[in-house]
Amino acid sequence: MRKITTDVAVIGGGAAGCYAALCLHNKGIKPLIICKGLVGKSGASLFAGNLVLSGRLLGNTEEQAKNTAEFLIKYHNQFLIDQQWARRCGEWIEKNYYRELEEAGLYFRRDDEGNIVTSPGKIRSIAANVQGNSGVPFMDLRRKQILRAGIERLEETTATALLCDEDGRVGGVFCLDILNGEYVVVLAKAVIMATGYSDRLHVRSTGTREMSADGIALAWRAGATLVNMEMQWWHTNDAAYPPSWQRIQIYPNPMLGSEKSARMVNAQGEEFFNQQRDDPLAFGPYTVQLKALAKQVHAGKASYEGGYYAGFDHCDPKEVETYTTYAKPFHQLGLNFPGDMLETAVTSHYRQGGIDVDIATMRSSVPGLYVAGGVGGHSNGLIALATYDGFSVAESIANNLDGIPSKDIPQQSIDREVKRLSFLRESGGNGLSPVQLKEKIRKMMWKKAGVEKNESDLRSALSDIEEIRNHVLPDVRIMNKTKSVNYEWLDAIDAVNMLDACELIVQSSLERKESRGPFFRQDFPLTDNNEWLCANVLKKSGNGVRFERRPYELPFFQPGFALRDNLEVPW
Ligand SMILES: Cc1cc2nc3c(=O)[nH]c(=O)nc-3n(C[C@H](O)[C@H](O)[C@H](O)COP(=O)(O)OP(=O)(O)OC[C@H]3O[C@@H](n4cnc5c(N)ncnc54)[C@H](O)[C@@H]3O)c2cc1C
Repeated sequence: MRKITTDVAVIGGGAAGCYAALCLHNKGIKPLIICKGLVGKSGASLFAGNLVLSGRLLGNTEEQAKNTAEFLIKYHNQFLIDQQWARRCGEWIEKNYYRELEEAGLYFRRDDEGNIVTSPGKIRSIAANVQGNSGVPFMDLRRKQILRAGIERLEETTATALLCDEDGRVGGVFCLDILNGEYVVVLAKAVIMATGYSDRLHVRSTGTREMSADGIALAWRAGATLVNMEMQWWHTNDAAYPPSWQRIQIYPNPMLGSEKSARMVNAQGEEFFNQQRDDPLAFGPYTVQLKALAKQVHAGKASYEGGYYAGFDHCDPKEVETYTTYAKPFHQLGLNFPGDMLETAVTSHYRQGGIDVDIATMRSSVPGLYVAGGVGGHSNGLIALATYDGFSVAESIANNLDGIPSKDIPQQSIDREVKRLSFLRESGGNGLSPVQLKEKIRKMMWKKAGVEKNESDLRSALSDIEEIRNHVLPDVRIMNKTKSVNYEWLDAIDAVNMLDACELIVQSSLERKESRGPFFRQDFPLTDNNEWLCANVLKKSGNGVRFERRPYELPFFQPGFALRDNLEVPW
């Protein structure tokens, strides 16, 4: 077993983890990135299509600056966000983010006159090279910056447990190097959890192979408080077929250089969503679309698994193809563009909730464990917001690292993790393979904790989880007993994390007795701002869980009603 000592261990190599590591490095603090995939090439960050402009950037008017803040608080977080934090974040993006990226060499798409092209309208965005593909050059740049700075990396290495010293302070990370099967213990004065939020917990998901809610499961097992775990976001128009295209989105966001975006029609060809008409303020109108789709589903004119269509048949092809990738899936499937519409379906996208974070310090409730990016429960993310987190967490750690003694990690906690992982690899069951087990969990979540939920389905999901944990998991069949490049083993490790996270999501969904934004309770269809405009805080209590509510302050934007049918709430 290898032991490495560093100042700060960063778990995750997406927008948040990379930027945290770069900022720490610039401050003379030694970070080490542990990444389940490749740094800059795994997680959600490389899927970012649009880069939203905040404040008065690039000629934004005062009105547009206000619209962006309103979008972030209302449409993107359904008021479950600290509004002062949102303002600070917007100011940082306006003053630092784009300038720093451009100086570092990221190309923002320009027109023939050399002006940066934006989408017009109430909220504006730009693109790195081409809209729909901005995350790839963005994360390529981050990867180069990390390599150039000589920041130490453990890639294709999964963090499997947080290691605490005798005082309960997180002082290390237990890891498995997937390629050579070696265990690695990373000892650090502080650990940043930056594992993102697009987890593959449902049959259809925008998350990648690495995303099995590990950050949530690890933090919870170390005793961290979680928040708003029930707030799951959904993409409404991702390709229905083929299944491997479930993340290919027919973007509803306004296009660069055009006023238009994709429109949606039901099985009978009737238009039921058009962003410009239905909600021009909702730049990423996913929740508004989902509500429009729910009405179609209730009327029998679509289903969450397909039977409705999205496309650009109201646009000139040039309007779409000049600055965006949006026509590509149509061409690749051999469809007529822009005349044909593509059948679309719902995909679980990202989780608004996550680890509870003190936004002043980016600390979790467990000493030594910090949080950045999508895995936190403080905001619904976006690539700029995840980057701001990377900046904030580095500032906070830099102010606090001195004086933190490096304490020993008790050997028995390391031995316990070795035993747990070895047991999973050597398990001699005759039941499902680990991949089949993951699929079983995803099917159960889609059916019982999917878009529309109710108490009886959620309780049934809890029974299923217990049954899987007690009877299916111990009988998992692992054919490959080798240590190196053993993805069966990794799948089994992932499945344990998925089960823990799914249970917490289901319990939190039972607790929130209202519907809000993308969270639909059939048995509580009203948005209830009297009782539930608050954080749904989840804590460990003995062997069980305990919930608390924490209200949000509303200094800048207020919902303006107490109770209303969620499907009629515009956000
Ligand atoms: C399909 C899609 C489209 C999007 N479009 C946009 C957009 O247009 N504009 C925008 O601003 N935002 C967009 N977003 C959101 C944006 O991408 C996220 O807010 C942001 O990427 C989150 O960054 P992150 O660093 O927190 O997580 P991620 O980028 O997801 O990174 C997580 C990292 O953690 C690693 N990891 C996970 N588990 C472990 C483990 N156990 N051990 C070690 N490492 C681990 C992963 O390998 C990965 O490197 C989109 C997201 C998706 C999924």
